[in-house]
Amino acid sequence: MNGRALVIGGSLGGLFAANLLADQGWDVHVFERAADDLASRGAGIGTHTALADTLARLGIPMDTTLGYRSGDRICVDREGTVLYRTYWGHVMSAWANVYRPLKDRFPEDRYHFSKSLTSFREDPGSVTACFDDGTTASGDLLIGADGLRSTVRGILFPDVRPRYAGYVAWRGLVDGRRVPAEAHEWLDGGYWFVLPPNEMFLCYQVPAKGRLDWNLVWYHPVGDEELRDLCTDSEGKVHAGGSIPPPLIRTVFVDEIRREAERLLPPPLATLVALSQPFFQAVFDIESPGLVAGRVALLGDAGFVARPHIGAGVTKAALDAMCLANSLKEPTLDLALARYDRLRTEFGRRCVARGRRLGSYIEAKSHPAQGWTPEQLEQRPDRLLNEVALALEDIPELAIEV
Ligand SMILES: Cc1cc2nc3c(=O)[nH]c(=O)nc-3n(C[C@H](O)[C@H](O)[C@H](O)COP(=O)(O)OP(=O)(O)OC[C@H]3O[C@@H](n4cnc5c(N)ncnc54)[C@H](O)[C@@H]3O)c2cc1C
Repeated sequence: MNGRALVIGGSLGGLFAANLLADQGWDVHVFERAADDLASRGAGIGTHTALADTLARLGIPMDTTLGYRSGDRICVDREGTVLYRTYWGHVMSAWANVYRPLKDRFPEDRYHFSKSLTSFREDPGSVTACFDDGTTASGDLLIGADGLRSTVRGILFPDVRPRYAGYVAWRGLVDGRRVPAEAHEWLDGGYWFVLPPNEMFLCYQVPAKGRLDWNLVWYHPVGDEELRDLCTDSEGKVHAGGSIPPPLIRTVFVDEIRREAERLLPPPLATLVALSQPFFQAVFDIESPGLVAGRVALLGDAGFVARPHIGAGVTKAALDAMCLANSLKEPTLDLALARYDRLRTEFGRRCVARGRRLGSYIEAKSHPAQGWTPEQLEQRPDRLLNEVALALEDIPELAIEV
């Protein structure tokens, strides 16, 4: 079957769906809140076979121009002593490397910037999206690919709230050319981990404009009250949603994370932190009760957000889009959406549960009263280095058909 699809959100999830459905003969329009190209956002991402498969279905190769094969995973202590080492070799990429070909492949005149959905209504046989500029658009199917703070989800399931996990991910990207020779030699292209109590620091190289940059992620416990302070700018304005535009982060916090880096990380890794302009995002779990209501389907982070230890947010969005496209081969929209809902809701739930398990030892510091089991508090390097961002095809509980 086909018809007209309205995709709300023109990031990776929305673009996967838009391209796949357009290839199946759907008349697709994408409505994105941002005013222009999103390529400058996002940082490094881990890739999975399923991501490459989805790109391949669209004729986009996941080759060395898109990704970089990481070196061994190595866990070190403050002195740089190796605690655990294992072969890894997964392809690391950058967000923009996936966004660019997807965006360029989709017809420009069907991708509408500066369109923020405020509401929608369903009539028999159609759904109408309403935007903040007073315009509307009607179609057969509305796809909410509008991310973690999804307006579409808020309308469908007003009781679903992001649940703060008790820690933030400080992130940073370092231009590979700025890394001093001595640190560069020590780093040797590895995929580094440091595991101070209740924390996880990791960094790996990602391809960027023909060179390799360093992507840093540091999961750092921050209590609920402290988070509010972290999200307060120098004018005293509290920013909602567990983040704040990077230029507004107060220097006192950036200085503090740099001091923490010197205290807890071996010098070459602390050098990377010093060279980066750190910014943070609070970590949340989001679980919707389902992904479909009437003619509306949620996709990607709009439906479920698992903690980033899964390392598969982009691949999950791609698989959701693939499943939706496959499901739309059913004879009716109802049958198609019922299939999509059944398969992807289960997948989303399992991802959230796995992410929670991997991050519980970090969360325990901020939410100590929850009665954690010794297994949840387990911080063994061998366990974490083999489970964080594991290839999806190696996780039996996530082997769900699309
Ligand atoms: C610290 C961290 C590390 C991560 N690491 C990885 C990793 O290694 N690998 C990986 O695969 N993933 C990773 N992720 C997850 C990944 O970034 C997301 O899962 C992925 O981008 C989801 O895409 P999406 O299209 O569903 O949502 P988003 O990328 O959030 O896009 C939503 C879009 O909708 C638009 N929008 C919002 N509201 C409206 C509205 N009302 N109207 C119109 N448009 C709207 C927004 O402007 C945005 O463009 C990480 C995330 C974090 C926080």
